[in-house]
Amino acid sequence: MPTVSRTAILQIDFLVVGGGIGGLAVAYVLAAAGHRVRVIEKRGLDVPSGGHRVTPNLSKILRQWIGEEELTRISTRCVGTPWHDLVTGKYVGFLPWKPAVMAETGGEFLLMHHDDIIRVLYKLATEAGARVDLNTTVTAIHQGTNALPNPSATLSTGEVVTADILIGADGAKSKVRELVFDEEEEDAEPGGMTLYTGTVDGADMEKDPELRPLVQSEEWPIFMGAYRSLCGHPVRAKGAFSFHVYSHEGDVQEQGGEESWEEVVPTSSLKLDAFTPRLQRLIKFSPYLLRTRFYKHQQGVEEWMDETCRIVLLGDAAHPSFPGGTHCAGMAVEDAAVLGTLFSHLRTMDQVPSFFGAYQEMRQRRCSSVNLADLANAKLVAMPPGPQADARNENMMRTADDWDEGTLKAQFEDIAEIFGYDAGDAAEEWWVNWGRFSDDIRHDPLQQQQCMAFNFETSTVEIEAS
Ligand SMILES: Cc1cc2nc3c(=O)[nH]c(=O)nc-3n(C[C@H](O)[C@H](O)[C@H](O)COP(=O)(O)OP(=O)(O)OC[C@H]3O[C@@H](n4cnc5c(N)ncnc54)[C@H](O)[C@@H]3O)c2cc1C
Repeated sequence: MPTVSRTAILQIDFLVVGGGIGGLAVAYVLAAAGHRVRVIEKRGLDVPSGGHRVTPNLSKILRQWIGEEELTRISTRCVGTPWHDLVTGKYVGFLPWKPAVMAETGGEFLLMHHDDIIRVLYKLATEAGARVDLNTTVTAIHQGTNALPNPSATLSTGEVVTADILIGADGAKSKVRELVFDEEEEDAEPGGMTLYTGTVDGADMEKDPELRPLVQSEEWPIFMGAYRSLCGHPVRAKGAFSFHVYSHEGDVQEQGGEESWEEVVPTSSLKLDAFTPRLQRLIKFSPYLLRTRFYKHQQGVEEWMDETCRIVLLGDAAHPSFPGGTHCAGMAVEDAAVLGTLFSHLRTMDQVPSFFGAYQEMRQRRCSSVNLADLANAKLVAMPPGPQADARNENMMRTADDWDEGTLKAQFEDIAEIFGYDAGDAAEEWWVNWGRFSDDIRHDPLQQQQCMAFNFETSTVEIEAS
């Protein structure tokens, strides 16, 4: 079922803080459902970024939104993942992403550039009627009051924007989350990994016989070392190659940087001695690197919405991902698809608490387990030499030789849950089974307790964004 095929009976004002992948995706689905949406993004469209693995659960949403032809134009279909040794470059094994198995998930495994995803979503959102203010920062967020339950935000322009609902899509270092969770910045602590992201022009790689196959292939190779790994893949339909270097604690490189996608560092700042010469040449071709430090945030967060039920979190703001993880964009777009589907059923503001409750119930466990899987996979390919790394390599070698279609399907059982998921269907199923009966729920005082706890008489909470 397409995620945005219905116009809501009650159409309301949404303010989205942050116009990254999650913010633009939710702006699109809400505007397509007839709501009035304004997005505030502190940066412009032309900012440095790298590559994304677009797994089937995400590609099926993008295909619904932009169609097969446009999706094919800006992506490369991934046929498999070869594993290599980072130091020697030696081949270890191969995991094929077989079309027949992918087809069962309802999507494809694609390789794309962050910037291409952003541009596609920006076009969708603005053409659906959303207003996107670029180069504008939200400097303060205000909860509602008794007189005016609507939340508002102060912008760097001095303007104060009020909406019926405010969505915090402002990334891992979210200021909206600080208000919702009451999370102090010092609650987050370094998580033991620094990510370096680079992109190399395909024309440079074409000149080097050892690098040419990387950009011409349809693969997502992973190079495994001690406390560090490199993965990369073609982007911009093979016009360039993006890579991530994951440097874990114990690596020759010191941990550093911020939890941010804004820090550009010279390519020479990455120590290259642990890489095979082919990779050293690849990295040197990148004009600069983005440095992003992984931070662990407060665990056990119970609510993604504030007590007024007018402010809600989405994407990395709700569930900060492991930077460079395979599923970070997918989880944010799934969040958006779920919220968009729910709010296409809006008839009265009384439904909002049950929509938010359903949203969190559908999303929280999934995002948390997927994030943990990303982290575990990153550690698996950065093991120091020893029996565990040997056992991993043996398993990977066996994989290449032994897997037939049947074995592959069995291996996929674990990840079928991730790849086969359809966010729009999940939200629609909730609506059919529960949501449409919510008149009963709304008249049940117990169900309303969550939002009634907020005392409009006393509270006007606001938070300053730096
Ligand atoms: C510029 C950029 C490049 C990235 N490149 C990669 C990459 O190459 N590979 C990868 O795997 N992941 C990358 N990511 C991260 C990845 O896109 C996210 O982890 C994932 O898509 C979830 O997206 P999100 O929208 O929840 O958060 P984000 O992508 O972090 O988006 C949050 C947005 O909110 C904006 N924002 C924050 N505070 C404010 C404020 N006060 N006012 C207004 N706007 C605000 C930020 O500028 C940002 O655009 C990148 C993120 C960004 C922002």
